[in-house]
Amino acid sequence: MLIFDAHLDLAWNAIDWNRDLLLSVEEIRRLETSGRESDFKARGRGTVTFPELRKGGFGIFIATLLARLFRPDLKPPIQRFANMNSAYACAHGQMAYYIALEKAGHLRWIKDVAALDKHVEAWKTGVSSDPLGFILSMEGADPVLDPEQVHEWYANGLRIIGPSHYGVSPYAHGTGTVGGLFPPGKPLLREMEKAGMILDVTHLADQAMDEALDCYGGPVLASHHNCRALVDDQRQLPDRHIKQLISRGAVIGSALDAWMLAPGWVRGESTPQSANVTMATYVDHIDHVCQLAGNTNHAAIGTDLDGGFGTEQTPMDLNTISDVRKIGDILKSRGYTDTDVEKIFSGNWINFFRKAWSGKK
Ligand SMILES: [Zn+2]
Repeated sequence: MLIFDAHLDLAWNAIDWNRDLLLSVEEIRRLETSGRESDFKARGRGTVTFPELRKGGFGIFIATLLARLFRPDLKPPIQRFANMNSAYACAHGQMAYYIALEKAGHLRWIKDVAALDKHVEAWKTGVSSDPLGFILSMEGADPVLDPEQVHEWYANGLRIIGPSHYGVSPYAHGTGTVGGLFPPGKPLLREMEKAGMILDVTHLADQAMDEALDCYGGPVLASHHNCRALVDDQRQLPDRHIKQLISRGAVIGSALDAWMLAPGWVRGESTPQSANVTMATYVDHIDHVCQLAGNTNHAAIGTDLDGGFGTEQTPMDLNTISDVRKIGDILKSRGYTDTDVEKIFSGNWINFFRKAWSGKK
């Protein structure tokens, strides 16, 4: 069965982490534990490479540009640009990585409904010799130099923007901060709507999300976002926002970062074993969205599995991203039908982009 992952930071891994994603997971882990790299805790514990994506049936995903301004409290300072010009340049560098892999036949860049339909047809069973497909997104709008520049980014192939990341961006308050949009935030959203750029609300602070949903009328998604009712932290979506997103036709991708899955996780201390985080815990978040919606049309996958952590911070029964397909059986054991599983695996995202790109609300 085809799986659609709504959040992978592939270029950031390839460039900032210097990982050759065409290698096997075992080879990258071996290289990173043989003394060459020891800068991050997640070294030697990565879970995402192209062979594992293919093995897992991930024929399509949203891939990010992630180049943000310096934040002194973030250690190590892995997203560290002193100004937006540098972030802009870095985002272009990351885009060049996707272009290089497209030229080499590993990736297919999907920018419209025709390309989406053709790609999904080739990958409908989850097994294909075709390239892996990606839709380009920007996590944190720091590389958008001014709101007008949204149109240039759209022409470059960007289709989704999340205005903020951890901390603040020039446009909005994000994760771990309290506040709304900054003055350029509204113009950014206005230009995004004009351009047909999709809004990703993930990482927006509560007030910023309220304001963004008020002033932006285009299609909305939450790429990698769990439920605050299950893990009480501002990074997660409260039920009122989940309901609001559902009423807007949004799809919500559940993330596999352990601290967002199980309550009481202490970063740097807890382990998947001590916090008892399993793929069943992950399914709890997907199920919560379905229960609030009263259907299975809005829940989906947005793993974030290469988002700066590895197996030290993922469910204990996950070794690589290819293990995500295990949730099919867990969902079925809870009464979900084959059709429901297919929708959660990929159908809901495909349907979302078909509608968003056809201009249907
Ligand atoms: Zn993120």
